[in-house]
Formats: sequence, structure tokens, C-alpha cells
Amino acid sequence: MRIGIDLGGTKIEAIALDETGAVLGRRRVPTPRHDYDATLDAIVALVSGLEQEAGQRGSVGVGIPGTVSPATGLVKNANSTWIIGRPLDRDLASRLARPVRLANDANCFALSEAVDGAGAGCRVVFGVIVGTGTGGGIVVDRRVLTGRNAIAGEWGHNPLPWPRPDEWPGPACYCGKTGCVETFLSGPGLARDYQQATGEALEAAEIAARAARGDGPAGEALTRYEGRMARALAIVLDVLDPDVVVLGGGISQIERLYSSVPRLWQEWAFSDRVDTPLRPPVHGDASGVRGAAWLWE
Ligand SMILES: [Zn+2]
Repeated sequence: MRIGIDLGGTKIEAIALDETGAVLGRRRVPTPRHDYDATLDAIVALVSGLEQEAGQRGSVGVGIPGTVSPATGLVKNANSTWIIGRPLDRDLASRLARPVRLANDANCFALSEAVDGAGAGCRVVFGVIVGTGTGGGIVVDRRVLTGRNAIAGEWGHNPLPWPRPDEWPGPACYCGKTGCVETFLSGPGLARDYQQATGEALEAAEIAARAARGDGPAGEALTRYEGRMARALAIVLDVLDPDVVVLGGGISQIERLYSSVPRLWQEWAFSDRVDTPLRPPVHGDASGVRGAAWLWE
């Protein structure tokens, strides 16, 4: 049995999967914010609850909004700041009396879709989460490619390629740079672009809904968005040439992206033709917790 934990900023989700990926149990508790010890306790309680329910012991993988620094063994880049600088995997391992694997939540998403989701049967899967932020993860042969610095796939903070004059230098990003892919492709990025063009503040989902109803300014904002996503992903195609790109996060619900973006990235990728499919996720919101479980093959 494999247990996956998705440690989010507001809730901790847990799932138990059998060998085939069927769900044996599912639990969810609010995240004890700003309390590291209580966060450990909550995860231990979720694991023992699932094990009692299933009547067996499981392996444990945890997805976190950050990553473990290979250099220090401590959590870095997490927006749940109370776990930063902590040896979360070792602390959990000692409390659970077994090794625990940790991975970035975008990597867990990519792994879940690679194992039995939209990337099933593909050797190299690039998973993108476009929601509040923009993150990416690479899976090769059903294993997460973490990288020497644990940043493989993190292309959200590279600059938007082939910028037009009105996209340069681009919006300021929380990472300290300007014009990052994330500042254009995240939900807030789409909303900002729409507001700049129309003066109206709308959420990304509402812009997409209006575009689907034929609204002009919303459709134009999405067209700009698609061009940017195509350019940003063309870089990924050139560097990694994955067998499939899978979108996740709130933006992945915009259906027209799956036909428009692959049509547009043909123009930018360094190839006479590009056959790479862009697919919606199969597991949706459950991908994080499922991918955490699959951290143990
Ligand atoms: Zn940035």
C-alpha cells in the first residue's frame, strides 16, 4: 500500500492507494498553520488513520509547496513558511519509523499524470501547474527528475521568450526579477493583462467564461495568453522534447488551450514539425496527493 500526503497551505490531504492505484482511503484535515510540530503530528495522525482503516502498513510520500535542498537537506522555496529550513523528511521518518520521500507539488502532479493519468504510457512527461503560480515538473520512466539543485522543470521564473515590445521588461515578480513566465501565465497574470486592456478587474475563470460566450475583449486576452503559453512551452520542447505536456491547476480548465497552443508552438520550437500533444489532467485536484503516493515505485 502507498500513502500519499499533500501538504497544502490551508489543508493536508491524504490518500492510500493499492498496487493498481485504486483508492483504499482518503482523509483531509486543516493545516495547522505556523506550527511545525502540529504539522508533523497531523501528518502522523493521517498516516495511522489510513493504516488502521486499511489494516496494513504503507510507504509514505509527501508533496510540499517547495522542495528539499540537496545541499542542506532542509526545505526551501516553500510558501508555507513555517516548514522552511526544517528537515521535514527526516522528522517525519523518525516519527513514522520508516523512510519518507518528499517532492515538490508540481513534481507530484507530473508523476501522478505520468503513472496513470494523461501521460500514461509516455516516457518523458512535462507537467505544468498554472494556477495561482506557474510551476513545472519532469517525469522520466515514471520517476521524478529532481535535478542537482532540485529545480528541474521550474521554468516559471525564466523570462517570457520572444517578448513583444509591450511585454518587455514585463511585470515585477515576487522572485525579484521581471517578466517571468509566471507573471504572464498564472491566473493572476491573465487577470492583470485583461485589466490593463479593459480597466476591468476579473478573475481568470470569469475571463475564460466570457471568452467562451464570444465576448471580444475576453477572447482577445485569451488569444494573447495562448501566444505567451506557446512561446513559453516552445522553450521546454527545445530543451526536453517531452512525449507529452500535461496542464494542471485552474487554468487547465480552459478547453481551447489544448487546440490553440499546440498550433501556435509550431512556430517557435526548433523543428520543422511538432507532434507533441498538450493534454488536460486526468486526476485534476487529486493529482498532488496521488503523485505523492507514487513517489515509491
Ligand atoms: Zn519570477
